[in-house]
Amino acid sequence: MKPEAVPSFADPALLDMAAIRAQFPILGQRVRGRPLAYLDSAASTQKPTAVIDAMADYYRGQHANIHRGAYQLSQMATRLYEEARERVARFLNAADPVECIFTRGTTESINLVAASWGAANLSPGDEIILSVLEHHSNIVPWQMIAQRTGARIRVIPINDEGELQLDAYHRLLSPRTRIVAVNHVSNALGTINPVAEMVVAAHAVGAVVLVDGAQWVAHGHTDVQSLDADFYAFSGHKLYGPTGIGVLYGKRALLEAMPPYQGGGDMIERVTFVETTYAGLPNRFEAGTPHIAGAVGLSAAIEWIEEIGLEAIAAHEDRLLVYATDRLSAIRGLDIKGQARRKAAVISWVAVDPPIATLDMGVQLDLEGICVRTGHHCCQPLMDRLGVASTARASFGLYNTFDEVDRLATALTAIFERARDRSPAGPDPDGVSRQRAAGACPTSAEPLAYPAAVAESPQAAAEQIAELFEILPDWPMRYQQLLELGEQLPPMPPELKTPEHFVAGCQSQVHLALRVRPGSRDTIEFLADSDAALVRGLIALLQQLFSGQSAAAILAFDAVAFFNRIELDQHLSLTRRNGLAAMVQRLRQLAGEHATS
Ligand code: PMP
Repeated sequence: MKPEAVPSFADPALLDMAAIRAQFPILGQRVRGRPLAYLDSAASTQKPTAVIDAMADYYRGQHANIHRGAYQLSQMATRLYEEARERVARFLNAADPVECIFTRGTTESINLVAASWGAANLSPGDEIILSVLEHHSNIVPWQMIAQRTGARIRVIPINDEGELQLDAYHRLLSPRTRIVAVNHVSNALGTINPVAEMVVAAHAVGAVVLVDGAQWVAHGHTDVQSLDADFYAFSGHKLYGPTGIGVLYGKRALLEAMPPYQGGGDMIERVTFVETTYAGLPNRFEAGTPHIAGAVGLSAAIEWIEEIGLEAIAAHEDRLLVYATDRLSAIRGLDIKGQARRKAAVISWVAVDPPIATLDMGVQLDLEGICVRTGHHCCQPLMDRLGVASTARASFGLYNTFDEVDRLATALTAIFERARDRSPAGPDPDGVSRQRAAGACPTSAEPLAYPAAVAESPQAAAEQIAELFEILPDWPMRYQQLLELGEQLPPMPPELKTPEHFVAGCQSQVHLALRVRPGSRDTIEFLADSDAALVRGLIALLQQLFSGQSAAAILAFDAVAFFNRIELDQHLSLTRRNGLAAMVQRLRQLAGEHATS
């Protein structure tokens, strides 16, 4: 996609960014000593004061359980909850509020349809059409119901720009098609799908359509009636509202014909041990006490967005996308994945020259206070189609600024330059990374011990590491140190990177090989490597702690307590913590085998 216009900062149609940003308390924070640049709104948007206050006010002065209370407070809470439903119905242009079911979010909405509608309507030989662009939450529930019912899943392919291939879609449609479930906007690439056209085609063969609107609703008007969608799902937290609340819109006739999804309080008409009859819509699908405060917060979010205007929001985000595409395309070696003609404000990229692990880009951007998401974005089939394991993704909301795009582009340029300097072909002939790449692999007869000076014991190594961490003033510096340690890690010969040495449970690729040092009785040494520099840094710490030590000493050392002590566990993301735990576990397991053999 080529940028169409350079934004004019004097344009009066632009949103008043200072006023908007002032309504998001979190955006005023500094992260790692720098102003927060939050570029991960596709994962979840930040919350304006209007939403935070509405929820706090509700809990402070209006909370009671809904529906069954004779007292005024319960009636007030019920009214707020049902008013929220009415606001959602107007927001979606649903014909009737009862067609709007509150759920935990898009995931639950889709699970509800797959489990309830699917169980009642799918038989062996029936077909469910999905697309390569789907989020796992619009794949897995369908696989589950397909397994139970004998239905079959068919998949709409994409072209290299990340657009659905509509000719293939038309060929897939047949009288066997029972349901088409597609996203309105792809979370990983930003592609806006031609859902209206797809609904017409599906209806022509008698199929119903579920639209996953998680990534659309905050970016443009939604009109379920003109779209003629049978089901439409979205999450409050991507719409400047709270987490834990979402909506399933369904056409009344379809919902009324569907069996309940969960059983419990509020969804019944009458219960006896012989028979239970169910409530009408919407209660039939809202078993148990719902997320009342969430509904109140979602309602406040919709009101707030409507005051600003979805057109203005979409126009602002389009400008940001054009500008960001322009800036990122100019970075040599950066490959943007997904160049659809119609795109929401999402940019996914990979570093091809020099190759840089997406996790490393994410960690280094984080050091600059810039939040982007790295990984498969819950779209592994799409990643497979793109031929990558993951991408880095920046996604914009109405509060993002051109200045933040500049910061992203500048930081990325520096990351690419640093990586280029370190790469074999780069201008760093004496650099450590050049030695790595030039194949300075130790032969199997050589000792593998690292670091050069092995500490007396894991405890002694732990003291050295703890001291170093204490000297470094803050976590950005400690991260930097970890990245540098990762750079210096001795290389792992490719022949050791076998499935046998693969460590499962890490987000990045990790291999770990351990042996007893030749000629010694039980001195353990090991090599490990990862495609992510930060993980290499963690491996370097493990090397320092354990390599060159006896198996018994390794087993006696409490690594978890040590990582706690240096606060590493607090400062790593959950996935990286799990990865570190998996490496430690593998080391202990292998050391245990050597200790007993
Ligand atoms: N579908 C899409 C397109 C999404 O982007 C997401 C969230 N990333 C989901 C479904 C799932 O949403 P939630 O986790 O809020 O249920």
